[in-house]
Amino acid sequence: MIQPPATLGLLGGGQLGRYFVQAAQAMGYSVWVLDPDPDSPAGRLATRHLCQAFDDTAALEALAGECAVITTEFENIPRAALDWLDARVRLYPGPRALAVAQDRLEEKAFLGEMGVAVAPWQAVLAGAVPELRTGAGGLAFPAILKTARLGYDGKGQVRLDTPDALPAAHAELGQVDCVLESRVELERELSVLIARTAEGATESFPVAENAHRDGILHLTQVPARVGDAVCTQATAIAREVVDQLDYQGVLAVEFFLTSDGELLVNEIAPRPHNSGHYSLDACTVSQFEQQVRAVCGLGLAPARLTTPVAMVNLLGDLWPAGGTPGWQDVLADGRARLHLYGKAVARPGRKMGHISVLGRPGQADASAVVASAEDLWHGLARAVEEGVA
Ligand code: ATP
Ligand code: MG
Repeated sequence: MIQPPATLGLLGGGQLGRYFVQAAQAMGYSVWVLDPDPDSPAGRLATRHLCQAFDDTAALEALAGECAVITTEFENIPRAALDWLDARVRLYPGPRALAVAQDRLEEKAFLGEMGVAVAPWQAVLAGAVPELRTGAGGLAFPAILKTARLGYDGKGQVRLDTPDALPAAHAELGQVDCVLESRVELERELSVLIARTAEGATESFPVAENAHRDGILHLTQVPARVGDAVCTQATAIAREVVDQLDYQGVLAVEFFLTSDGELLVNEIAPRPHNSGHYSLDACTVSQFEQQVRAVCGLGLAPARLTTPVAMVNLLGDLWPAGGTPGWQDVLADGRARLHLYGKAVARPGRKMGHISVLGRPGQADASAVVASAEDLWHGLARAVEEGVA
């Protein structure tokens, strides 16, 4: 067990890391953050911010020398840096889990070996455009071409209506290794956050229901509007994924529930997840405290929902040019919790913060909080359109 006041290391300095730093510091730990961005949200709060590239030898040496354990909030860390750290210090999760989640081809292979259902897919490798499997058992169109590596928030993806659009789409993505995936008819999108300790104890958070806009998460509501059987199945799959990876830390599994009622895994993220932010205000423990607990070998806390909740993302699009949104309606609502990540520059599509709206006593489902969260969001969107901040 790694006890406070030990120093913990964190690879990546985004908002997920910022919450990890806050959770760890609240428990008496120090946190060193490695991130090349001088203005990184987590770096600004860290005990020490190593403002260097992820493969900077001196920075990695400093981390390995100081930290009792190193974890990550960002999966795209160079493999060589992960292996170097793993040979010298506890790195939770380890290089294999991160490698699987870094690369959609490896991820699909891993899920396939586990026998987990995914959308029909085919590899499209660098250089050549492949023979498409067509006809019975082949890939159905419309489809989506996704880069195997470095995609996030819908970036690195092109939608294809017909097979003959593939060469142009592959060229648009720079002809790198890709996954071509059938577009499935979505009834719902779901996610499960799960924590696992090195000893194999697990604790999962309640199933979240996610709505996206332009490939970016817009709103999460919990409880999800699905039956108990689907929740049980999704949670069991998440459990199997972390057990198969011998995982240490917090991991997210994103699911598609198809209109035929089939539960497919979309992807896995080896870290806390935007769709788990509701846990900050509406659970008995947050996904970030649970990450501290998991990587330090403390007992995991029960992760129960305390109230129905809707979390809506605040993207840079809501920021008026050269200004900042007027928060009065959000702040005046006693059931709304405003979160901002301390990012100095707002850009379209950039995650700047979120709002969680909590239910009233006696409310069992999330319909009322979803309506309130959407109202607050629309109020902010209207203000930018009308140019009144
Ligand atoms: P993030 O890292 O933000 O989760 P990402 O860039 O890794 O996103 P995906 O999760 O693969 O991208 O896709 C983003 C969204 O696009 C999905 O949540 C879903 O709404 C839609 N989408 C992706 N693949 C499919 C598919 N095969 N069928 C239908 N919709 C899809
Ligand atoms: Mg995704």
